[in-house]
Amino acid sequence: RTVYVNGEYVPETEAKVSIFDRAFLMADGVYEVTSVIDGKLVDFEGHAVRLERSLNELEMRNPVTKDELLQIHRDLIEKNDLTEGGIYLQITRGAPADRDFAWPNPDETPSGIVLFTFAKNLVEMPSVKTGIKVISIEDIRWGRRDIKTVQLLYPSMGKMMAKKAGCDDAWMVEDGFVTEGTSNNAYIVKGNKIITRALSNDILHGITRAAVLRFAAEAQMEVEERNFTIEEAQAADEAFITSATTFVQPVVEIDGAQVGEGVPGKLALRLREIYIEESMKTAV
Ligand code: PMP
Repeated sequence: RTVYVNGEYVPETEAKVSIFDRAFLMADGVYEVTSVIDGKLVDFEGHAVRLERSLNELEMRNPVTKDELLQIHRDLIEKNDLTEGGIYLQITRGAPADRDFAWPNPDETPSGIVLFTFAKNLVEMPSVKTGIKVISIEDIRWGRRDIKTVQLLYPSMGKMMAKKAGCDDAWMVEDGFVTEGTSNNAYIVKGNKIITRALSNDILHGITRAAVLRFAAEAQMEVEERNFTIEEAQAADEAFITSATTFVQPVVEIDGAQVGEGVPGKLALRLREIYIEESMKTAV
């Protein structure tokens, strides 16, 4: 693959980042993942806006403009003949010193930037037909989950705990209520109503979440943004998750209990179709 590192397109085997990079030493970096269908970027605008927000929250400077960012994404799609999959983007605070907890003025150290593509079938996913199984785990992450940082150790551990339990993912629970999945937002369905936790610093403000809730309302589905428990989810008609690389994915089992009939829910599957169709209209 050809990847992008600090202003240059290079073969992935030749890409180099400093061992003093603060993202490597301290997880001092933010990222975005934008999906690609038919060689086009899905909701590039949403990801660019959230990237800016994450950077601002951490007093980090964006080394590229939005237009440049779009161009880099497009160049990588072209150079790698990418039709379906995604682009990973990471901006780090760079390598201003060997290792120092305090960071310097952004004027003194330019941020580092890395992008790479990955191919993946997104529209046709086997797990959509079967649905996924989740376990619940305690949410012990830090209090600013709204910032999309590369500090992903606990979500990785959660995914491993799920795999060990013979499941696909973990839903995290705080004070008795589901926050989100390890790398996705969590939803339940009761009748025609979609229930998902409201936005706050407790969860990532999913770009797919925003689009899905908008499309759901347009399709006359009811949307309620509120907390729910694992027990309520287990007793719901349907459950599902959303993220840029899974779109809408039905959840059929939570902590060993079947959700509904234990098969992908009708509303979730319809919402998935609507999402793919509608988001392609604004893909660039
Ligand atoms: N929550 C978490 C913790 C995530 O890591 C992700 C995916 N990065 C999401 C939600 C979904 O966000 P998006 O729809 O923007 O991919």
